[in-house]
Amino acid sequence: MHSYHDASAVVRALSPDEPVIINRPHAAARAASFFAEKFPGKSLYAVKANPSPELLQVLWASGVTHYDVASIAEVRLVRSVLPQAVLCFMHPVKPAGAIAEAYKVHGVRVFSLDTPEELDKIVRATDGATDLSLCVRLRVSSDYSELSLASKFGVDLADAAPLLQATRQVADALGICFHVGSQAMTPFAYVQALERVRAAIVDASVTVDIIDVGGGFPSIYPGMEPPPLEDYFGAIHRAAESLPVSYSSELWCEPGRALCAEYNSLVVRVEKGRGDELYINDGAYGALYDAAHVGWRFPVRCLTEGRSEVLAPFAFYGPTCDDADYMEGPFLLPADIRPGDYIEIGMLGAYGAAMKTRFNGFGEGLVVESTDEPMASQYLGNRRDPRQSDNVVSLR
Ligand SMILES: *Cc1c(COP(=O)(O)O)cnc(C)c1O
Repeated sequence: MHSYHDASAVVRALSPDEPVIINRPHAAARAASFFAEKFPGKSLYAVKANPSPELLQVLWASGVTHYDVASIAEVRLVRSVLPQAVLCFMHPVKPAGAIAEAYKVHGVRVFSLDTPEELDKIVRATDGATDLSLCVRLRVSSDYSELSLASKFGVDLADAAPLLQATRQVADALGICFHVGSQAMTPFAYVQALERVRAAIVDASVTVDIIDVGGGFPSIYPGMEPPPLEDYFGAIHRAAESLPVSYSSELWCEPGRALCAEYNSLVVRVEKGRGDELYINDGAYGALYDAAHVGWRFPVRCLTEGRSEVLAPFAFYGPTCDDADYMEGPFLLPADIRPGDYIEIGMLGAYGAAMKTRFNGFGEGLVVESTDEPMASQYLGNRRDPRQSDNVVSLR
């Protein structure tokens, strides 16, 4: 894959007609090493955030040995790219055929569930296997996260005891997992969830071998500067240490966003301007799904030289013919930006590059590498301490 110094060099060399995805393997490697060295337990990469095989190889080479997969296609993909990886099938609702293939063909031993029916399904699909690690997904609050994952999955605390007891009967190792929601803006999200885990363990009086605090570890976006990840790790460590679990129990986490957000940026071109709206060549059906659908603000910079220092707020329209292909922003760009100019949109490695579709004939485009730093980083150690600033938790 061709490597450039930065996005401006990509534009100078290619003047690309199509959007270009830029990979920064060094940024993903740095994030992976950080989790591998500093999280006080095991880090499972949540593959759905970005399933690119090149990224999987970078994470593996930097010490991530466990992968959270959610579909049989993800199981097959990770198994083919990383034959030695430990795969954990953490979607609580799975087809029986997917469970059987994962267990029998791909060596998967870790499964999650949130109902007695799914427990039965797992037992039958694995022919009553006795070597399973089974994680019961508990419903927890998403109040401290930018994107909720609270309504779809997870057993309520009130119903957890019988499910934990039934799972204990058939599991070699019993786990409890949860997900506080994506982009959790305070470590307290995990402390609160672990308090609910404590209540579930006490209610059920079972021996628990794995505590899995899920994903939700934040990245940096305009208007969203979370505390340092060390604060999250410290709070999780203290809360997990005090749980009534077995002496040899393990602590797991499932970061998606935090491991790959810095991996990609995107170069787009302005095709038309209409007041404070810019028509660009990628959008809601491309890598900018979250910018359109949940109003996520990504960092932007103009790559064309000689434009004004004065910045103005713009909204974007994507290339398809659909009115919904609209990104409100605001995105701050030179007030005199015009058609033909190029823009780099940063922090698109998580739920960005992975979301591209071919709708309306768009979605082609090059992928290249760059050696410069991402537009923001949790891992460079050069951030001002956000605790000194007014780090307001925004609730949706
Ligand atoms: C999506 C998902 C993750 C990753 O979440 P992030 O917010 O990207 O860290 C982890 N675990 C499960 C079960 C998920 O569904």
